Amino acid sequence: MSHLAKNYNRKKISFKYGKGSYLYSTDKKKYLDFVQGIAVNSLGHAHPKLIKTIKDQSKKLWHVSNAFQIPEGEKLAKKLCKKTFADYVMFQNSGAEATEAAIKVARRYFYSIGKPNKNRILCIKNSFHGRTLAAIFASGSKKMTEGFGPKITGFDHFSFGDHNSLKKKINKNTAAIMVETIMGEGGIKVIPDWCLKELRVLCNKKKILLILDEVQCGIGRSGDFFAFEKSKVKPDIVPIAKGIGGGFPIGAVLMNKKVASGMVPGTHGSTFGGNPLAMSVGNTVMDIVSNKKFLNNVKGLSKYFLFKLNKVQEKYPKVIKQIRGRGLLIGIQLYKDQTEFIKKLMNNQLLTIRAAENIVRILPPLNVKKNEIDLAIKIIEKVCSQIK
Ligand SMILES: *Cc1c(COP(=O)(O)O)cnc(C)c1O
Repeated sequence: MSHLAKNYNRKKISFKYGKGSYLYSTDKKKYLDFVQGIAVNSLGHAHPKLIKTIKDQSKKLWHVSNAFQIPEGEKLAKKLCKKTFADYVMFQNSGAEATEAAIKVARRYFYSIGKPNKNRILCIKNSFHGRTLAAIFASGSKKMTEGFGPKITGFDHFSFGDHNSLKKKINKNTAAIMVETIMGEGGIKVIPDWCLKELRVLCNKKKILLILDEVQCGIGRSGDFFAFEKSKVKPDIVPIAKGIGGGFPIGAVLMNKKVASGMVPGTHGSTFGGNPLAMSVGNTVMDIVSNKKFLNNVKGLSKYFLFKLNKVQEKYPKVIKQIRGRGLLIGIQLYKDQTEFIKKLMNNQLLTIRAAENIVRILPPLNVKKNEIDLAIKIIEKVCSQIK
């Protein structure tokens, strides 16, 4: 019997090794991996530059305490700030830690300016910000919070797209609005650029902070380095994770100078966060993914993939309801529950993963090849033809 806790519904399949977009199973099958650890392996499996980085750094230094200077972290923080709205970065190990730290930064900022009662965070109902206690209550999902009371208070919710409710829920105790720029788990729902702009205007008017959770949609996934870039909106705080480590666990909170002023020595910390091994890998991923040419290529691949998927939808309008997403964060929304569809794709050696609202989520590596997209389309089309 397995001694792993049963908190996952695992597929009966395991892998021996991976290369680029492919995974090779222990029973010697080759799978096209369009999950990539849920948008984590931004450069696919076993990228030679990441292997070299890990190899070189592992011989030098793995871990030292944040009680000391960590030049690799300084370097990565500098690159992140140079590319974006941010002035400061705080490194963590995961997405949930990054969103939690984002909440802490927002609350601490208002505390530091003498407004400690401004501490409530306004979030989208059934969003996803991670699985820690605060993060599940931030997500406002019944399923995720069931049995984990007492409720962590301090979060208010509005429904995706319900602007009236959003405005009504802001009160004198609101510190920030926290939303995913593109909802991942929640069903690949893109917040339109005009909406992000209005959010910024609203936050300015109400003197509250804008937190954009880019844990899943950031680091090139959308075709821009951050999904909010296209809108020209500048958020105050941005938690990131998944893609930045290329498979190595890294999380971070990016913030502007104003809000960073509250984070004085002793206010937050992490034993593992920002260690030299993690930071070396992060630097290598950053150098590749933040390159303009690389991002233009992601945009091109996305356009091609979405065009092809829309063709499939036209051919099977009774199976596929809608193609959603941006960049290489793509959702095929089905009319029916997606479980069987995903299973059939897997039987045809294409790995995908579910999201809410009957979505088959597709997350290829950002350096996926065109012929791999073609192969995926072929398999998706075949499975569509088998669905009644
Ligand atoms: C995955 C995810 C998280 C949580 O990340 P973990 O590393 O699993 O803790 C938070 N926010 C969003 C938008 C995510 O997609």
